[in-house]
Amino acid sequence: RTRAACVPGAAGIAGNSGFIYVRLENQCPPVRPRPPLAPCGLRSGVFFAVNVRVLMLKLPTCFVHLQGKGIFAKRDIRKGESIFTERPLISAQFLWNALYKYKACEYCMRSLETAEENAQRLSGKPGLSLPRPELCRVRPDLQQACPQCQVMYCSAECRQAALDQYHRALCLGGSHEDPDHPVNKLQEAWRNVHFPPETSSIMLMAKMVATVKQAQDKGRWQRLFSQFCCRSANEEEELAHKLLGEKFQGQLALLRGLFTTALYDEHLVRWFTPEGFCSLFSLVGTNGQGIGTSSLSQWVHACDALELPDQQREQLDAFIDQLYKDIEKETGDFLNCEGSGLFLLQSSCNHSCVPNGEASFPDNYFLLHLTALSDVRAGEEICISYLDCCQRDRSRHSRHKILRENYLFVCSCSKCTSQADEPDVTSDEEEDGEAEGETEDEMTDV
Ligand SMILES: [Zn+2]
Ligand SMILES: [Zn+2]
Ligand SMILES: [Zn+2]
Repeated sequence: RTRAACVPGAAGIAGNSGFIYVRLENQCPPVRPRPPLAPCGLRSGVFFAVNVRVLMLKLPTCFVHLQGKGIFAKRDIRKGESIFTERPLISAQFLWNALYKYKACEYCMRSLETAEENAQRLSGKPGLSLPRPELCRVRPDLQQACPQCQVMYCSAECRQAALDQYHRALCLGGSHEDPDHPVNKLQEAWRNVHFPPETSSIMLMAKMVATVKQAQDKGRWQRLFSQFCCRSANEEEELAHKLLGEKFQGQLALLRGLFTTALYDEHLVRWFTPEGFCSLFSLVGTNGQGIGTSSLSQWVHACDALELPDQQREQLDAFIDQLYKDIEKETGDFLNCEGSGLFLLQSSCNHSCVPNGEASFPDNYFLLHLTALSDVRAGEEICISYLDCCQRDRSRHSRHKILRENYLFVCSCSKCTSQADEPDVTSDEEEDGEAEGETEDEMTDV
């Protein structure tokens, strides 16, 4: 039994045509988010199961470090096992997603609608009632708004955490609906160059600036952000990010102007220069991980986990199947609150076209679970795929094109090595994709 849902944050590193979201429109088979995994916690996960090896190289042309990194298993890991869980340094909901009333906590991306409200909106049936409402874990009674700008949080803790990290510098106060406020103008410009399916948000960059701006220890945050690779060119391989192409210069200049007006800070001068802004863009583009949350799919998982007599099980299953059919008719496959975040550990995972690890968000908020897709031996590298499941099935030539243009490397994983003798042909899927504009070089692919 499978159900449509863009796998919550299935794995995407930002970039290309995207985060690794599984969407029906990409001709992927419908995939349901996997059931929640037992939380393992950063402590036990990181230091128990994996080693992070970091190699840093200073690049004069880049304002932070070029890094070659990898995550390696310290002990045997079984298929399906949780390797680690991790919270992002920064996350932000996509702007169109928010505009289309997918309500998420401004801090942790938790879906704020109850499963029933979510089902009503997505199916276009305002009178719909869900059986077993007690299985929905959303707590409207705990939700809070920022008293100044009315932005919503799932809890007092999230409101405080946002305030302490970046929201003091980013709160629009009474101007939150003023289209002429510089932050609103920046968001508007971003939406206009970055249509759905969305893969990134300019607010991720804005929150980085705001975080440093209001931090007492600015150096600490700058060091943390500098852990992410931000190169926009790979000189050994003579690869340049497609952002550097002529095509995007106008859009980049426009965004940089608005970004500067909205957020300029004297401690971060270099993020506002043309090169620095481009690096910031590349940082978010190559490291941003897609995050998807859904109170409805969490409710469905809880239903699936119930032990029920056969007849009740059949009834409940039939109800859920019909609900997903109704939703598909009304809303298509945009089921989740969607956004992206910067995760230090996850971004240290290298790519493979045959990955042994996968990121997901089973807890309905930004906590990332990295799970083993196959048995991993001690000492083996843990790799995720920067390509979505459809892109992964394309020819070696097509995969390499996507990875080169967006992640600036030439893949030499076992699959690519075994296909090294294949002629450089573009796979049929990609031609189809191009026909739909899916893999076209657009700003939307960043
Ligand atoms: Zn929250
Ligand atoms: Zn506020
Ligand atoms: Zn490969």
